[in-house]
Amino acid sequence: MSANCIFCKIIKKEIPAEIIFEDENVLAFKDLNPQAPFHFLVIPKQHLETVNDLQTNSEIGGKVISTAAKIAEKFGFSESGYRTIFNCNKDGGQEVFHLHLHLLGGRKLNWPPG
Ligand code: 5GP
Ligand code: ZN
Repeated sequence: MSANCIFCKIIKKEIPAEIIFEDENVLAFKDLNPQAPFHFLVIPKQHLETVNDLQTNSEIGGKVISTAAKIAEKFGFSESGYRTIFNCNKDGGQEVFHLHLHLLGGRKLNWPPG
């Protein structure tokens, strides 16, 4: 846990979020500013800052990704399709430095991204 981290506060239920999945390792909740009909964030409960930290934490990375796939199935857009994104650091557009996987679905997504 990191004291000033907004996502750690969501994990500790100190600030509200629309939580859609939780187990001992990961938490998933709706993004506050959704960019698609479904826009969820899947985070590890362990405070890792960026996807760079998965070099030595591959197991938790796998759990985050498999959770996203299960959520896509549960919400009914696994067949129509979706996108998973880890933004990393400045050039990747990362704003919250608690590792999170964006899960977007429910509409046709453009490629390439901006
Ligand atoms: P990043 O740019 O770091 O990859 O994405 C951060 C995401 O977190 C953004 O899509 C933003 O809307 C979302 N976000 C930031 N603060 C909060 C919050 O307090 N609650 C929720 N649910 N989402 C947040
Ligand atoms: Zn954190």
